[in-house]
Amino acid sequence: MKRLGILGATGSIGTQALDIIRQHPKDFDLILVSGHRNLKRLLQIDEAFRPQYIWITDPEAYAHGKTMNFSARLVQEGTDLLDAGELDLVLNAMVGSAGLHPTLKAIEGQVDVALANKESLVTGGAVIQKALEKSTARLIPVDSEHSAIFQCLQGLEEGRALTGVILTASGGPFRGMKSAEVRGKKAKEALKHPNWAMGRKISIDSATLVNKGLEVIEAKWLFDLSPEAIEVVVHPQSIIHSLVRLKDTAVLAQLGYPDMHLPLHYALHYPERRESRLESFSFDTIASLTFERVDDEVFPGLGLGYQAISAGGSMPVVYNMVNEIMVAKYLRDEISFYDITDTIAREMARHTPETPMDYFSIRELEARLKNRLE
Ligand code: NDP
Ligand code: MG
Repeated sequence: MKRLGILGATGSIGTQALDIIRQHPKDFDLILVSGHRNLKRLLQIDEAFRPQYIWITDPEAYAHGKTMNFSARLVQEGTDLLDAGELDLVLNAMVGSAGLHPTLKAIEGQVDVALANKESLVTGGAVIQKALEKSTARLIPVDSEHSAIFQCLQGLEEGRALTGVILTASGGPFRGMKSAEVRGKKAKEALKHPNWAMGRKISIDSATLVNKGLEVIEAKWLFDLSPEAIEVVVHPQSIIHSLVRLKDTAVLAQLGYPDMHLPLHYALHYPERRESRLESFSFDTIASLTFERVDDEVFPGLGLGYQAISAGGSMPVVYNMVNEIMVAKYLRDEISFYDITDTIAREMARHTPETPMDYFSIRELEARLKNRLE
């Protein structure tokens, strides 16, 4: 039995992870869950899963939670639990760069991390890598593309067989449109993703293709690749989740329906392959798999991600944090679609990358950006 923590348990990924726990009760002992503001959902989780601890990350919600009838012990500072030998594995499914601290704490506490929170790696890739070098903890990707790559790489002999990866992208809800049409799109429309039902922030990231830029940076850190070795192709059906290039020219892929349950099932059971109740892909259900190039003119979000990782140092922190700030405004209908990537481009142009970054300098830079742009 794995002693498990689920951070961001009230969200889209957290909920799907709890489905896996429900289906495999003998494999997991759920010790800790976290949520930010959704107390109603936390109460349901408390009742259904009986975790030992519930970490409420928002201070106001924590104070309110204290007045409610939880059977779990409520904690306000859960990172200590990641460091105390209580867990074998933690799923980090928080949204945004708030996830960096728990990712680092878990690694320092020798706890394996199943990582959905890509913002951790984008902002703190170098810091996380350093922490991993000093730890026995493993980082197991959950993002579907990176899970696909990770799955393809299992069983390869030691040494660098991997020469590159091809990340697939659905193209998002505005694929095929011209910029004049995309310009006026409101959050309500951007939230309607054709293939995936996801949290609000990542849904907007998918519409701008910033999500793919974040994933390029995530792939760099997870698989130790240069930006040139990371390609992106639009694949509207989202059946091929990504591909790897090996040094003998072989290209391997992982296929499945667009459903985060499989990457979660795999990451939570890793390194084992367990039976699952999911439906295996069949060519009877989909007429054809198609591929297109990314339209960089309509969707500058991906190119900015490549620029950020090529500049290195603190530039990905700027890319990520300006995006977080602008996406929150777009979700409140305060700005228009292209204000997101225009502001990222402007802020990156005025930023001189600092290096090396430690945890505190990352947080300082983020605070400066928030002060100015929020
Ligand atoms: P959701 O918005 O659905 O859930 C986010 C979770 O994080 C909730 O539990 C929320 O709590 C919590 N949270 C919100 N703000 C904070 C904060 N400041 N500090 C700590 N916790 C916070 O997001 P998703 O589940 O869609 O995404 C989670 C992560 O997984 C993201 O990094 C995303 O990029 C990544 N991901 C998601 C995929 C998907 O299919 N959804 C696919 C691949 C990656 P509460 O609800 O209680 O306020
Ligand atoms: Mg993804």
